[in-house]
Amino acid sequence: MSTISIDRLSKSYGKCLAVDDVTIEIPAGSVFGLLGPNGAGKTTTFKCLLGLARATSGEVRFGGQPLTPPLFESIAYVPERSVLYEWMNGAEHLEMQRRTFARYDVARAKELMELFSLDPRKRVRAMSKGMRSALAVVMAFAIHPETLVLDEPTSGLDPVNQRAVLNLIIEAAAQGATVVLSSHQIGQVERAADHIAVLQDGKVILAGAVDDLKSDRKIVEGIFPSETIALDGLRRDSRIERLDQSGRILRLTITADGGGLAETLSQMGAQSVRIVDLNLEDIFLNAVSPNMQTADVVEAR
Ligand code: ATP
Repeated sequence: MSTISIDRLSKSYGKCLAVDDVTIEIPAGSVFGLLGPNGAGKTTTFKCLLGLARATSGEVRFGGQPLTPPLFESIAYVPERSVLYEWMNGAEHLEMQRRTFARYDVARAKELMELFSLDPRKRVRAMSKGMRSALAVVMAFAIHPETLVLDEPTSGLDPVNQRAVLNLIIEAAAQGATVVLSSHQIGQVERAADHIAVLQDGKVILAGAVDDLKSDRKIVEGIFPSETIALDGLRRDSRIERLDQSGRILRLTITADGGGLAETLSQMGAQSVRIVDLNLEDIFLNAVSPNMQTADVVEAR
């Protein structure tokens, strides 16, 4: 069980700076969600983390040590794009895993194949996208890894199998594994992750423990009779961190307890007002589009 430290990591592909001076500390035994819009640099960060891409600068350390071959044995990687062999079947992939990893557990692999209803005799070429994802997940979890790096592991899976993957992640972390995952399914990350970082244009724009990021903030949501809402007073209110108007719905992200602002919206004519906790999707959207509300508000007025 080791902390993973990514220290001032940068990676350029020609003129494209895919990862730009990223520093992230992934606590041992945590489930760490790496979020970000398309092209933000998540996959590149994973590749540098695992030595599959050479960093332009910066360092990665596992428990204070650089990544060396003995460590590979304890790391499982589910890449974003399938690296399965089309002509091989599930059983042959598992056999490959068995020969590569001393920690491979035959009984566990069988159990996982059954969990995802995978037929070991079926060739990859005849598998659906979801079956391929599931097989990659089985291969990863069958070696009882200490570190799991999962790049969109639930992509293509149906809701039942997505939930099964989430449960495996949570279970692995409970047993001491460190899990790093990326997913565009923010609700799933929210269920599993205790820490997150948000990347945008290769940079970390937000990082921290999910509970800390959620605390002290609320959303006050009001539904108005028309789209014309007088927002001037609200825009000057220092308690309001963000203001989104979508038609008749006004959402205020606030740093106070919300009671006073709920009252204000009612006085402004809102037909219904509710105060809700921030979820991870709100946090993500606030981070990646902090100015969106300004444009919306200007348009709405
Ligand atoms: P997505 O959510 O779409 O999977 P991502 O956050 O994983 O995106 P990356 O795949 O890391 O993003 O890509 C980051 C940037 O680096 C993008 O601009 C991408 O075009 C570029 N990039 C990634 N791999 C290469 C490569 N092999 N050669 C050139 N550019 C690359």
